[in-house]
Amino acid sequence: MTQASASGLACEARLNLRNLPLYINRISDRLQSFDADASQDGQRLDFRFAFGGASFDMDRLVMRANAADRDGLARIKDLLATAVEVYAREENPEIVWTGDLAGETRLAPFREMAVLGDTELTPHMRRIRLGGEDLSRFAKFGGMHIRMLFPTREVPDPLWPVLGSNGLPAWPSVDRRPVARVYTIRTLDVEKGIIDVDFLIHPGDSVGAHWAMQAAPGMKIGIMGPVGRPVRPASWYLMGADETGLPALARLLETLPAETRGVAFVEIADDSEKQVIDNATGIELHWLPRNGEAAGLDDRLARAILSVAWPTGSAFGWFAAEAAAARIVREHWRGSLGLGRDETLAAAYWRRGAAGLMAG
Ligand SMILES: Cc1cc2nc3c(=O)[nH]c(=O)nc-3n(C[C@H](O)[C@H](O)[C@H](O)COP(=O)(O)OP(=O)(O)OC[C@H]3O[C@@H](n4cnc5c(N)ncnc54)[C@H](O)[C@@H]3O)c2cc1C
Repeated sequence: MTQASASGLACEARLNLRNLPLYINRISDRLQSFDADASQDGQRLDFRFAFGGASFDMDRLVMRANAADRDGLARIKDLLATAVEVYAREENPEIVWTGDLAGETRLAPFREMAVLGDTELTPHMRRIRLGGEDLSRFAKFGGMHIRMLFPTREVPDPLWPVLGSNGLPAWPSVDRRPVARVYTIRTLDVEKGIIDVDFLIHPGDSVGAHWAMQAAPGMKIGIMGPVGRPVRPASWYLMGADETGLPALARLLETLPAETRGVAFVEIADDSEKQVIDNATGIELHWLPRNGEAAGLDDRLARAILSVAWPTGSAFGWFAAEAAAARIVREHWRGSLGLGRDETLAAAYWRRGAAGLMAG
């Protein structure tokens, strides 16, 4: 039975998995990358997040979640269910939660938003201001990004997802399903109910860039989140981004502590794409214009990152760009330099020639 603690909410799900011991290390690694402290007591693994706790009972094949409030419990259920679905995929796990909020269909990470306005930041970067209610969860959990759910030509009037009994989103049938892409919350004002998202208007047939070009006040869009791993605190950062990673990099430069040092490289099409960033840190910012070269075709950004010597002491590497560049940087940091997951984050934000969702 699930014990609802006096201080909050609790629930559990049976794990009918033959090979749980084979996956548990990767599940544990993933949960720790979301800032969970892990501990083990015999056959029981415990995880403590800032917003609640989780455990895996390897004898009884049960996972449990607890949190002080609904948002926290929904977040932990989502993290656990996603980790199990990803790493135990070959056993096609069927997760059914019992306990607090088991019958809930409201999808906690989802909000319907309305376009309030737009600003041309540069020739190819368009800021869309979105308004919505109850946005406080987007300031929690350490993730800077959202999954945006777009209407398309084929599905102009989509239905939004609800909460499935496994703690994950349940989607409508294909003919009513919105199309998802991941974007960064460039700025968030919880009090005013406002989120700004900076869209790169890139060439090619697209969903996100196409929507942003046509966005007009009153248009509706769905968002889910926040998504993404937290950036670890450090006193020195090495950062790299192309235009798709620029909104996140700019947000980091505007919010990291003033005493932070390091170096950041941003690849842009040409000088007209430079943006004014209110850099609150001592991190040196360098722009790398492509000057006519197509995006994702050369490795100047990755080479710039590889040319910087990794310091001794507290440091973090953060990189967000096209998939091939992200691979070069990840292999260098994790492979050649032997740095850990808690010291680096090198993410593919898009893939040349492929459409779709890049975030896990
Ligand atoms: C965590 C995360 C945060 C992100 N934040 C932002 C953000 O704040 N702003 C932003 O603009 N993007 C951001 N991106 C990148 C964005 O999700 C991708 O560029 C996505 O492909 C855009 O969707 P789309 O529908 O416009 O194009 P798609 O339909 O996915 O792709 C259509 C075609 O366009 C190409 N394409 C996609 N992106 C680019 C590009 N940058 N340059 C050239 N060609 C491209 C594809 O290869 C494909 O051929 C983020 C991605 C991740 C994973």
